[in-house]
Amino acid sequence: MILQPEEAKVSVYDRGFLYGDSVFETIRTYAGEPFALDEHLARLERSAGRVAIPLPLPRADFALEIRRAIRAARNPESYVRAMITRGSGPMGLDTGLAEKALRVVLVEPLQALPATMYRDGVAVTTFKTRRAADEVAQGAKVSNYLTSMMALKEARAAGAHEALILDGSGDVLEGTTSNVFALTQGVLVTPPEEAGILVGITRAHVLEVAGELGIPVRVERLPLETLRSATEVFITSTLREIVPVVRVDGQEIGARVPGRTTRAIHAAFRQKVGLGAEP
Ligand code: PLP
Repeated sequence: MILQPEEAKVSVYDRGFLYGDSVFETIRTYAGEPFALDEHLARLERSAGRVAIPLPLPRADFALEIRRAIRAARNPESYVRAMITRGSGPMGLDTGLAEKALRVVLVEPLQALPATMYRDGVAVTTFKTRRAADEVAQGAKVSNYLTSMMALKEARAAGAHEALILDGSGDVLEGTTSNVFALTQGVLVTPPEEAGILVGITRAHVLEVAGELGIPVRVERLPLETLRSATEVFITSTLREIVPVVRVDGQEIGARVPGRTTRAIHAAFRQKVGLGAEP
């Protein structure tokens, strides 16, 4: 059923609302086509599996529904949020109380980041937390982003674009809704899944593009000191692609302007998705 946003209703007993008991994906279109839809739906299925939410329909049927919703929205480009909640039922933490998993697909016009952010780079802050990843749902895209929201609130108050989450030992994990890469001594480093990150779809494509460009890559832990002394830093996400980072906690990175490697990777990524080199 396709509805206008103001017509769509979800029960106040929905467990996504009551407990953040839901998983989701953020997807975007290029030329009206959802990018990497299969990869997103595979991750959604993995996320749902990690927290034992049964998929309410086969993956291929959900893909058709998502495509239908995108077509109906008629946006030049769309931002899509595909969610699965455990559904509603009597209150209580027992997951067995949920009657039937619920799916919701939200489609909005895509708001591109200002071109200046790609041209000049952005500032980020860091946010240390003892429990960066929920031990049970590790690696799953579950809807509870409270730690990240608080981190981003602090970042925005400091005039920064994004917050990087540090784990208990001070290693950099990822952004609040992005993955992080640092170019250090000519090697591109990004933290591994075991560190407790969400394995980004854009991250995977960037790793592939870096390989094609002959840039050496290491997937390994990223101490804050390594990030601070890197020659280039960038973050990646579905909606933002590749954004150069030129300041971390007020300290300038490398040459203080987006680096050559970052720009080359972004240009190659944009070529891959069928766009021109410049954002
Ligand atoms: N890490 C977190 C915690 C995220 O929420 C996101 C995206 O929302 C990402 C990384 C980037 O993932 P993707 O490239 O799949 O958008």
